[in-house]
Amino acid sequence: MNATVLTCALCIAIVLFVATVYLGGARRLNGSDHVPAHAGRTRSSVSVEALFVRIRTEMQPPAITHVARPRYLTVPEAHREMLRHTDCDFRRCGRKAAAWDALQTAGVIRS
Ligand SMILES: [Zn+2]
Repeated sequence: MNATVLTCALCIAIVLFVATVYLGGARRLNGSDHVPAHAGRTRSSVSVEALFVRIRTEMQPPAITHVARPRYLTVPEAHREMLRHTDCDFRRCGRKAAAWDALQTAGVIRS
């Protein structure tokens, strides 16, 4: 009696083991649970040329304007403008002239 129960339990265990291994292997061979949904797609909605154009655009430094601001510059703003317009002539660049005036008025520079 005991040997029969043990044999039956062993048979059931073997059947469950084989079924698990077989079904797991079949699923792996099928591959449905391992392949991501986007695999195999080679196209996206953005073209390579569009990406290059965007990269070139974003890598360019922002354009600076040389027209004077319509308001008075603070000393830190004037310092930044002077650095930004280092190569400009203050007689031709309104920003540099305004920065110069602001720094001169604040007593930071003397002419
Ligand atoms: Zn300038």
